[in-house]
Amino acid sequence: MTGHHRRQTVVVDVGGVKVGGAAPIVVQSMTNTDTADVDATAAQVRALHQAGSELVRVTVNNEAAADAVPAIVAQVDVPVIGDFHYNGHLLLTKYPRCAAALAKYRINPGNVGAKRRDENFRTIIDVALAHGKPVRIGVNWGSLDQQLLTEMMDENARRSDPLDARDVMLEAMVASAMRSAELAEECGLPHDRIILSAKLSGVQDLVDVYRRLARLCDYPLHLGLTEAGMGTKGIIASAAGLSILLQEGIGDTIRVSLTPRPGGDRTEEVQVAQQVLQSLGLRSFTPQVSACPGCGRTTSSFFQEMAEEIQTHLRGQMPAWRERYPGVVDLRVAVMGCVVNGPGESKHADIGISLPGTSEEPKAPVYVDGRLKVTLKGDTIVADFLKILEDYIEARYGAGAAAAAP
Ligand code: SF4
Repeated sequence: MTGHHRRQTVVVDVGGVKVGGAAPIVVQSMTNTDTADVDATAAQVRALHQAGSELVRVTVNNEAAADAVPAIVAQVDVPVIGDFHYNGHLLLTKYPRCAAALAKYRINPGNVGAKRRDENFRTIIDVALAHGKPVRIGVNWGSLDQQLLTEMMDENARRSDPLDARDVMLEAMVASAMRSAELAEECGLPHDRIILSAKLSGVQDLVDVYRRLARLCDYPLHLGLTEAGMGTKGIIASAAGLSILLQEGIGDTIRVSLTPRPGGDRTEEVQVAQQVLQSLGLRSFTPQVSACPGCGRTTSSFFQEMAEEIQTHLRGQMPAWRERYPGVVDLRVAVMGCVVNGPGESKHADIGISLPGTSEEPKAPVYVDGRLKVTLKGDTIVADFLKILEDYIEARYGAGAAAAAP
């Protein structure tokens, strides 16, 4: 891990999970089921948790959803956060069991109602106080407080050197978050029960806004690109935005908002969030497989398939291995396509295999802790290698390993 300095110093406890300060950067996610459907939502919360999400947010958009929350929370083993818009003040007061069951409330200051906004906001803060819960003040550029934005635009127009509209919009987002935090504290909410976010869908805008927030406050920051999009675009835009900020020590909890393909796997957003943190060397979640990109020396895609198969196998085993093999997340596995870089790279990993290139003899040397262990041949190379890998993990990280250690 890197000697990484985080900028925000306040630590907020979200249902037992620490966010901010020196605490590990927390991975969170959000369900896309109808919250009123208790079984479907609880199943998805469990799936996201199983994939590694340390906090899971559900939308609480109507009475049926608020009514369902306690039963969902009772079925899962991870803090559940409620996302409130427009009617949060009504739902949280009418459904105290929902308010009590949630680990945190997310309030969007742009969506607390067209009228009596401050009053509605205060009502939510009073409920948070009564139940001892933290809140996230989550500003979103798509639902930015229009009154505030208009005021700031007018003010800007009167300046002798007006800023461009983009700058005013970013300033308005920051101001909305900061003013709401101030209001929450005026209502008595302790300083260490507030998390801020200000999400946008453009990477450079996101970077600008979060740098401003980090300069202005010490609240933990929830980081994520909103409407990142589908597939590669969503993943890359998220990784690009998050990486710049995380590298600067900005961001205490992250969420990757991907639009799943129809019937797609919701847990992908958790894998991407984890991979961003692991690629930056900030946290370890799963053993990493490095594979060469392949080139003309290898005409088959066998080694790529093998690398994929091994990574999938490792990820699939992680829920069980996390408990059984402490430290296994730092394991490095190499799968290389030919003799040119294969043996060298494999020796640098904890365990590596160098497959035969097109003009080489059909054999695959396996290196363990930098030394040649065995040379595999034939059709069972993948299965044989996985067996060696599992034995290695058991010997190095299993209960026997600790007992055998000096
Ligand atoms: S290890 Fe071999 S197959 Fe892989 S990219 Fe390098 S030269 Fe090509």
